[in-house]
Amino acid sequence: MVCADGVKAGEVVTRFAPSPTGYLHLGHAYAAWTAWRRAREVGGRFLLRIEDIDKERCRPDFADAIEADLRWLGLDWDGPVLRQSGRLALYAGALQALAARGLLYPCFCSRADIAREVARSTSAPHGPDDAPLYPGTCRGLPPARRAALLEDGAPHVLRLDMAAALHDAPPLTFIDEAAGVVTAHPAMFGDVVLARRDVAASYHFCATFDDAAQGVTLVTRAEDLRDAAHLHRLLQHLLGWRTPRYAHHALLSDGEGRRLSKRDGAVSLRALRAEGMRGGSVTELLEGCARQGRISKQAVLF
Ligand code: GLU
Repeated sequence: MVCADGVKAGEVVTRFAPSPTGYLHLGHAYAAWTAWRRAREVGGRFLLRIEDIDKERCRPDFADAIEADLRWLGLDWDGPVLRQSGRLALYAGALQALAARGLLYPCFCSRADIAREVARSTSAPHGPDDAPLYPGTCRGLPPARRAALLEDGAPHVLRLDMAAALHDAPPLTFIDEAAGVVTAHPAMFGDVVLARRDVAASYHFCATFDDAAQGVTLVTRAEDLRDAAHLHRLLQHLLGWRTPRYAHHALLSDGEGRRLSKRDGAVSLRALRAEGMRGGSVTELLEGCARQGRISKQAVLF
């Protein structure tokens, strides 16, 4: 059980949790500003968490740049910055607790194995990201075969046995500020991966762990992660973690209606700074957009 030390009753604690895979752009500024404002407007706390478990994609200089960019925006955070890369043993311990209850299983399938299996089946249900759900091939692996593969060091991920996890679970609910009380439907994720081959734990697992560990009471994040709350609610139930409230904000888009993303070269905050823009002007712009309700999927910022 994770205890969130020092959270006062009724206190609002929010967080911004970027992955340092590139420089922040206006979409991140909006996410950070939203979380910061929701805490500051009620005298609450705003935390910064660097989600840097993926060593291949994350870089320490991007993490440093995040702090510098937030300072430039004038968004101050409380307490030390939490870096997930320093907490892998904690995540592994919590995963171990799930494994000991028979709720995880190793999956040795490659992407190609899964695609082949899905193509063979007549009905392949799809998950929230529109990818077919894992067909469960390794769930029923004979114990001796599983043990032999593990002994040989065969590469594998750890999957949640969703049916087992839901077996004794009561109806689970959470509060989404836009929708009210929502009944969680984690089964939409199927046997989701909680630990990857190359990364000790998945985004879903670490983010839910740390939201609880840091005493976050209000999770604000973009609407593309709306479904994630359904899975996070189940993890909270399984591990005895507290459930925060959830509020999802719009994703910013560019002049052509494309979502701002690092991949598509969205203009970075440092490029705006290099052009002589003030950080305060950026937050004023974001504030104006939010007040006028001009931020929507189709919002045009440029
Ligand atoms: N690291 C995640 C991202 O950058 C954070 C998502 C969240 O706020 O839970 O998308």
